[in-house]
This record gives sequence, structure tokens and C-alpha cells, in this order.
Amino acid sequence: MSSSRREFLHGLGSLGALALFRLQRTEPDLILFNANIWTVNSSQPRAQAVAISGGRFLAVGSNDEVLGLAAGGAKKIDLGGNTVLPGFIDAHSHPAEAGLDHLRMVDCDLRSIADILSALRKRAAESPAGGWVLGFKYDDTKTSDGRPLTLADLDSAVPDHPVFVEHRGGHTAWVNSLAMKMVKVDDKTPDPQGGKYDHDPATGRLTGHIRENAKTGFQTLIPSTFTRADRREGVKLISQMMTRSGVTSVGDAFGSPDDLTAYQEARDAGELSFRVYCLIGFQFIDQMLAAGIRTGLGDEWVRVGAMKMICDGSISERTARLSQPYIGRPDDFGILVAGADELYPVARKAHAAGWQLGTHANGDVAIDTTLRVYERLQRELPRRDPRFRLEHCTVVNDSLIQRIKALGAIPTPFSTYAYYHGEKMKEYGAERVDHMFALRSFIDAGIRPTQASDYPPGPFEPMMALRSEVTRTDSKGNVWGPKQKITVEEAIRVGTANGSYASYEETLKGSIEPSKLADLVVLGRDPFKIDPLELIDIPIQRTMVGGKWMFEA
Ligand SMILES: [Zn+2]
Repeated sequence: MSSSRREFLHGLGSLGALALFRLQRTEPDLILFNANIWTVNSSQPRAQAVAISGGRFLAVGSNDEVLGLAAGGAKKIDLGGNTVLPGFIDAHSHPAEAGLDHLRMVDCDLRSIADILSALRKRAAESPAGGWVLGFKYDDTKTSDGRPLTLADLDSAVPDHPVFVEHRGGHTAWVNSLAMKMVKVDDKTPDPQGGKYDHDPATGRLTGHIRENAKTGFQTLIPSTFTRADRREGVKLISQMMTRSGVTSVGDAFGSPDDLTAYQEARDAGELSFRVYCLIGFQFIDQMLAAGIRTGLGDEWVRVGAMKMICDGSISERTARLSQPYIGRPDDFGILVAGADELYPVARKAHAAGWQLGTHANGDVAIDTTLRVYERLQRELPRRDPRFRLEHCTVVNDSLIQRIKALGAIPTPFSTYAYYHGEKMKEYGAERVDHMFALRSFIDAGIRPTQASDYPPGPFEPMMALRSEVTRTDSKGNVWGPKQKITVEEAIRVGTANGSYASYEETLKGSIEPSKLADLVVLGRDPFKIDPLELIDIPIQRTMVGGKWMFEA
């Protein structure tokens, strides 16, 4: 065929396709009307109805305007005046891992040590002799006993199986004597680099509490026996759990090639109910670079995200690296897991290849360390719009905020911590808490922070996030860092539009406007018309992802 004939036919074909496309686009397959829609689109903030076609918003407007587009086949749903928001984006959580944890481990989110021990004892009785008994979501400040778990507790409950119980934060764990013996750790073993075996100050004996890199020796012994089917099952389970709460997109903050496979297979099987921006752990970066993969590869369901590195410890477990010590522990400044010299070479390799970078940095020392690495990269290898991410970015000050702004970096602060982990804030002190999860400071400086649960460490329910961010009040009524309160409108923007920006997807999602992905949540009450302390009680009625109801109450 001559090239001119081919062009002619091609031209005809695309004309025809365009007409058909326009025809399809003017015939919505679904219309939602009689709703109180907050679009998070500043040029059209409110609407009553949306038309949806092919998984995207086709039109947004008044009932009359949008219902006027309905043709024969369009389904129409009357939302009875209920509030509609864009779907929530949890920019930093650990869904693939959490899904497997829910399948395999004992959920230790219980309110007494006795309850935890009996759950572990029950699991041990069902497990083969000598097999590991694993727990997660244990929280030392949430039991009625007023003291943490001990080695002796675990030995008394489970003497014949090695036990490894992770703290809810994931950075520390409690183990029993058999586990210590298997890893060859005794009272005299020196602490590993970037880690700690706690000892009783009176007796010098191990307490069973192990921190940060001290976990590695145990984790390498715990067999990872997951099949591909298990991983897919884990992703299915957690995506259903999160979608039920109004989450339509997540950033998996420490993904592996196995996790990418699980997300793709769950999606192919029609079992993935949210979208994933999968950050990749730094230990896999050489594999990724060799395959020519970088940030952005994928589609609107499963996409390769930033490379993830870790600089310091955890806020909920009080190991974040601070410039001033923890309250009541004058020698404890937390733990730096990796310094600038260790982060820089890995970061440079990925940055040079076009990867977005995300670094776990909680304490002010860690944030400064991470910013120095990012600033150096932009001096040496300037890239347009690198959107460096500061994962958590918890304890800040004015000078750090100015540097974050100058770099255009994106903080992903914990959204539910003021509410859920309030009791731990005593160890940071009121003055410091006024500079933690610093949404007011970030927004006032023109920075775009995201909503982020870090689940399992923090609960992922977006309505708890709104309550926490707007009131800074915990479940007992204590207020933590009132200077950082934001408005309901700001909190919604943080949880929607800002999340899409953090993954370079702001033209695809994060607001309800024509051509964007039809991701939305229908609420049972209007968040603008209630006491902010009641935001957490708003029922989620339905969650839509890509024009499909993924959850209906
Ligand atoms: Zn995390």
C-alpha cells in the first residue's frame, strides 16, 4: 500500500473513531445525581451530578445539566442529597505486606498482655513444633498493664516455639528465649550497627525487646513460604479492607518485585479494588535499573513509584533520630539507620536514571540528612520536577520547611497519629509536638503534604485522618500540637489532590472533573456540617474506583 493511501485510510479511520468516540463520550453509562459534591476542583468547587463513561468523569454540573446528557442506556442513581468526595489517596502505607500479615500473623492489637499471650498460645498450639509464632500490631502503650511485654511473658506462654512479635510501628519487636537462642544472641552479645538489644538496667539480662537492625538476624531465619497465590490473596484482602473505608488509591511505601507481581495478578483476576503507586525498596534498585524500569512505568491501576530508602527510626516506637533527646531519657536521641554517606550513592544512581526518590525521615536530624542528599543531587545532577518525597517528615522546624519548599519536596506526614497515637506524644513534649505532622506549617508555606496512614503502624480510615488533622485531639480528648490544626476543606485536599501530585498523577485523579478517573466516595453525613470531633463517625456508604462500585454498604 502506498504511504499516501495508508495516510488517507488512517485519516478516515481516525475521523470515524473520533466521531464514535465523541458519540460514546456524550452517552454516559452512569449518572449520579441529587448529590452534594465537593469536587476539589477550584474552578468548579461544588456540583449536584456527574456523568461517567468508560471509567472516567464525562461531565460534572447541576442535576439539569447532567441529566440532560442521559441517553437510552444510561443508568441513573439518585444519591438522595448525600455528600460525595473524590476517592482518598493513602500516599504511604504497606498494603501488600499488611495483607500477608493478616493472613499469617496473630493480630496483637489487643488491650491486655494476658489477651496477647493467650492469642499467641492458641497459635502455638495450632503450629508444628519448633515453627515460628508471629505477631503484629502489638502496641506497648495500648495495653492496660502499664508495662511492655517481656521475654519472660513470652517464655511462659510459648516455650517450645520461637516467637517474634512486631510492634505496630514495625521498627522494633519482642522475642522469646528460644528465638534468641536460634539467632545466637545472649546477654553479652554486642548491639549490631543501627540496632539495639535491650537489657534490664538492673540485671544486665536481655528483656526481649529488639530494635531496628537488631531485627534482621531474626527476620532472616523466619521462613518466607508465601506462594504467588498467597501474595495475590493478601493484596485482595487488604484492598477490600481499605476500599471499604473510602481509600481508592495507595502508595505502597516499600514494594518488592514480588509485590508488583501480586498487584498485577490480583488486578488481572479482577480482585484489586484500589490503584497502586508502588514504591520500590532500595535493595531492588539494581534489578530494576538492569531491566530498564523507572518511576512512572505501568498504568493507572499499577504503577512503579519512587525508590524508597530509610534514614531513621519510628515515631510510634520512639526511635526517630532527634536533635534534642526524648522527654525523660536525656541520653536517648533515637537511631539513625543510614547516614548521608550511605544514602547518597544509592540515591544518585536512581536519581540519574530518572527515579523519584522517597526517604523515610521522621526526626529533624534525619530530615536534615535526607534534604542534604537531595540538595546535593540537584546541584550535581539537576532534574526538572524531581518531586523528592520525605516519607513521614514528622519533626520539623522553620529552616527545614524553607528547604523543603525551595526543593519542591513532598512530605507524607502521619494522618491518624494525633488521634490514634496521642498517648505517645508525651515522650516528645508539647513544644515539639507543635512541630510534628505539621500540616498547618506545610500548607502555609505552599508545600503539598499528602494523607498517609503507614498502615499497619497507623489506622488507614480517611475519616479518622480528617478528625485527627482537623482537631489534633486523641480519643481521650487530649489535644496534641493545636498549632497544626487545618480546616476540613484543607484536610480533604491533602487526602485527594495532594496525593495525586505526589505520584505525578494530578491530571488523572484527585478531583472530580471531566476526563479524570471516576474514583469517588459517598458519605453518610456532610463533613462540613458536623462537629469535627464526629468526623470519625461518618459512615462510608459507597466507594467507586474507575466507574465501578468497589464497596457498597
Ligand atoms: Zn512506612
